[in-house]
Amino acid sequence: MSEVMLYLADEAAMLAFGARLAAVSGACGVIFLQGDLGMGKTTLSRGLLRGLGHTGAVKSPTFTLVEPYELGERRVYHFDLYRLADPEELEFFGIRDYLSGDALCLIEWPERGAGVLPPADLQIHIQAEGEERRLRLQPHGARGEAWCAALSEVN
Ligand code: ADP
Ligand code: MG
Repeated sequence: MSEVMLYLADEAAMLAFGARLAAVSGACGVIFLQGDLGMGKTTLSRGLLRGLGHTGAVKSPTFTLVEPYELGERRVYHFDLYRLADPEELEFFGIRDYLSGDALCLIEWPERGAGVLPPADLQIHIQAEGEERRLRLQPHGARGEAWCAALSEVN
């Protein structure tokens, strides 16, 4: 299975895609969200969390680095590493404990943690084309490939 390309027309489509990703991922694994400020990384995360039943706000954890969510039996950790000065900070932060369990980790700005973060099951690269967003889904390993296969079936 190779990469998957998707075009999402507006914010509503991005939220809907997040919800689909929630369903296919089974809320377990590591997803990198890459793209400039304002591309929709947090919007996608919001759609995913709502898809898992979260009804409250989803803010960008820019200053706290991580925002934890407990949704029934599932745990989701939403990271935003934009303000990380040095990837080494993640070691002190105990990043391994977050990544080792059966939680879903959504990581915005994973580039800032390069060298310390493990590889993701799925890398999502977002680019703007006007209001539209082009998503390139790059799977790594069996789990990410299964997600991409499931996501491309419904298109
Ligand atoms: P990021 O986390 O990547 O910095 P946000 O999700 O916080 O981005 O913000 C994305 C902004 O772009 C929102 O204001 C959203 O309404 C707007 N937007 C416009 N078109 C889209 C689209 N197709 N998908 C996602 N967001 C969009
Ligand atoms: Mg964001």
